[in-house]
Amino acid sequence: MKILIVGAGPAGSIAGRYLAKADMDVTIIEEHGVPGFPVQCAGLISEKCIRLTGINIKKVTENIIDGMCVHGPSGRYIELRSKHNKGYVIERKLFDQELLKVAIKKGAKIKVKTRFVDASNGKARIISSGTEQTDNYDILLGCDGVQSTVAKQTGFNHSYKVFSGAQIEGRFECHDRHMVELFFGSSASPDFFGYAIPINEEIARIGVVAGERAHIYLKKMLESHKGIDNRFRGSHLEINVGGIPIGLMERLVDPEKRVMLIGDSAGQVKPYTGGGIYYGALGAKFACEAITKFRDSGDPDALINYEQGFIEEVGKELETGMRLLALYSSLTDDDYDTIIEILSQESIKNLISEKGDMDRPSTLVRELPQLLRNFKYIKLMGKIARHFLIS
Ligand SMILES: Cc1cc2nc3c(=O)[nH]c(=O)nc-3n(C[C@H](O)[C@H](O)[C@H](O)COP(=O)(O)OP(=O)(O)OC[C@H]3O[C@@H](n4cnc5c(N)ncnc54)[C@H](O)[C@@H]3O)c2cc1C
Repeated sequence: MKILIVGAGPAGSIAGRYLAKADMDVTIIEEHGVPGFPVQCAGLISEKCIRLTGINIKKVTENIIDGMCVHGPSGRYIELRSKHNKGYVIERKLFDQELLKVAIKKGAKIKVKTRFVDASNGKARIISSGTEQTDNYDILLGCDGVQSTVAKQTGFNHSYKVFSGAQIEGRFECHDRHMVELFFGSSASPDFFGYAIPINEEIARIGVVAGERAHIYLKKMLESHKGIDNRFRGSHLEINVGGIPIGLMERLVDPEKRVMLIGDSAGQVKPYTGGGIYYGALGAKFACEAITKFRDSGDPDALINYEQGFIEEVGKELETGMRLLALYSSLTDDDYDTIIEILSQESIKNLISEKGDMDRPSTLVRELPQLLRNFKYIKLMGKIARHFLIS
């Protein structure tokens, strides 16, 4: 079975590895000369995600994270650690290159400087080093990111909202090199949050995600958020900006046209953090299982199993994530400071330490009724309850 994968980002290379391992004839095309360029990523991934990558993570790991420091708008902060879950900060360019190497090792072919233009009836029009060509396929995989040409050219309805992410890497006096820092409130982002992901004690990736114009909020956060407190030592700001698709596409597969979307092109991103590598890797795994069923049964409807498998695995987390996202923009600066106060209680810190999981926010949301008991915070709790306990 001939599989044409458009895009050698994480989703494309992980799908390429799975499919080549399942004895499919896989070709990956990538418009750039090397994968992973330009880098638009903070590089924070979980252990669960690493298990799906198939690479030796040590080769690309810059730092290991075991907790987070959450800063409220007033400058008050709270340290939260997780007993069972670690995060890994990866060098994203090397990470993408390793993923591709492993896919090639398993038998996938790669054509770089090759751009997908459009496709129909099992034929894709591509431009390779300036020359137009046609590539045949049995299945076409759109792993071509947030602005997916595959989705546009093969008739998928664009159903996610594109948030804006802006980031710099620079000298920063990190709170603790093993803790991610999160910055909340209007001096960070009106509808999301800002972050600093340490690479070592004095260098971090600092960024902001927002519904729009994140670069403006990033500058504002660096200048005025009380949690940053002049710890950023950079002078010339070179801001890297990228789009983050929020909300899963209504359809991930068209069995008739034999096209599937994986990764950012499918909106496979955690709506509460903007992280997309884990969900893209899961998408690649379920897509491969469905394609294998199609090959073995000859029934194109088997491709639908991809959508079902993905939603069974993370549908609940996506729903919780969308509710968290809606909560961000409804909270005031005072609300955020109150949340920091609530999180400072020892019992809640212990709960987070036991049950916190960056890939599964629903495990903590399930504990909300217990957290909502304190009458002192009744107004804020009412607001939060409206988002989570009432559908
Ligand atoms: C500021 C910022 C910070 C982020 N931080 C994190 C983080 O810490 N952790 C995390 O998990 N996620 C993070 N993300 C999200 C993460 O970067 C994406 O979810 C991830 O890159 C998606 O992988 P992908 O393979 O689907 O798409 P991409 O990585 O976008 O790869 C798509 C590939 O397709 C190629 N391509 C596009 N069009 C064509 C075409 N027509 N023909 C051929 N090739 C084509 C592109 O060149 C690219 O190589 C961040 C995003 C931003 C913007």
